[in-house]
Amino acid sequence: MNLHEYQGKQLFADYNLPVSKGEVIFDAKDAVDACNRIGGQKWVVKAQVHAGGRGKSGGVELIDLPESARDFANKWLGNRLVTYQTDSKGQPVSSILIEACTEIKSELYLSAIIDRDSQKIVFIGSSEGGVNIEDVAKNTPEKIIYEGIDPDVKDVENHAINIGKVLKLNEDQMKQFIPMVDNLMRLFIEKDLSLLEINPLVINDKDDLHCLDAKINIDSNALFRQPELVEMYDESQEDPQEAEAAKSDLSYVSLDGNIGCMVNGAGLAMGTMDTIKFYGGNPANFLDVGGTATQERVAKAFKIILKDPEVSVVLVNIFGGIVRCDLIAEGVISAIKEVGISVPVVVRLEGNSAEKGAQILNESDIKVESINNLAEAAKKAVELSQ
Ligand code: GDP
Ligand code: MG
Repeated sequence: MNLHEYQGKQLFADYNLPVSKGEVIFDAKDAVDACNRIGGQKWVVKAQVHAGGRGKSGGVELIDLPESARDFANKWLGNRLVTYQTDSKGQPVSSILIEACTEIKSELYLSAIIDRDSQKIVFIGSSEGGVNIEDVAKNTPEKIIYEGIDPDVKDVENHAINIGKVLKLNEDQMKQFIPMVDNLMRLFIEKDLSLLEINPLVINDKDDLHCLDAKINIDSNALFRQPELVEMYDESQEDPQEAEAAKSDLSYVSLDGNIGCMVNGAGLAMGTMDTIKFYGGNPANFLDVGGTATQERVAKAFKIILKDPEVSVVLVNIFGGIVRCDLIAEGVISAIKEVGISVPVVVRLEGNSAEKGAQILNESDIKVESINNLAEAAKKAVELSQ
């Protein structure tokens, strides 16, 4: 689960990390008052979306009049922001973060992720911040440090010093940086984060370290023990079909092809997508209805797949293990009747009671192509999709 920048900065503040004085607004009429409460002569206004690259796309502006904050809010609230990290439709903007403007001397990069191989939290640091870190990694890899820290370690000082050297911190900044890494470690572990990024971490006009941006991902598997973070969930930032699927416990990822896939089991789902690709087609989604593919789940899955206007054919590929294919066939038929499907459906059933399942499909008055062989079924779906 992702957080907005303003939510991430609330966590930063809770962990004594230096962030700007700011307020979040959801209505343009609150902009001027917010600027006045924050005080000062210069502010930065930032559209809140679950994506970076806002600076380059007009989603971040420096202003010196409170009225400009109102204009910025009027421009963005209710609209969508497209950046190089979003799809072509962009992300909806429903809140704006207004902050006191920081004078920047230099922009650094700091992030932390989990490295499962070494079972450590790896901090990534660079003196080249504010830019796309992937480019730094490609063009000047010597300017990046990867420092793995054991989550059980009591004292992070030596690790912090290693990172601080690559960030080219002076002595005073190093004194700020050591507790900063300690606080980030605590935040990372206590809040079950899977990723944390401060880009840029800046040196301000007082020569102090300051966090100007905050990107936080929380491990969704740990949300059961993070109720206050669950409160921060913003469904509007998610793909609508993916959000709906998540509510029904279906693993669904939308893709940009036109063959809707309904499969039980993640491995079979990937194999099905590979087979579609092999025959020259493009899957519209990854969907795992799970081992217990009941009639209700099949119906729900059909509804989610068909909400994608790109879908021109659905390929159902079910392996009957515990679940019986004849029950799946009945599920498919009643789901098709319920949902009223207008695109062709190709069904491949294999395993437990597959023949009986195929017979039920063939004898029904519903128009489905029942094909027992996966290669043939995929070929048929690709042909119908073109
Ligand atoms: P992103 O583009 O979505 O990653 O948004 P950021 O929060 O990183 O902001 C983009 C850029 O705006 C930063 O790299 C800074 O150069 C600039 N910026 C953001 N906040 C401030 C600020 O308080 N003062 C100044 N001078 N620049 C800022
Ligand atoms: Mg940034």
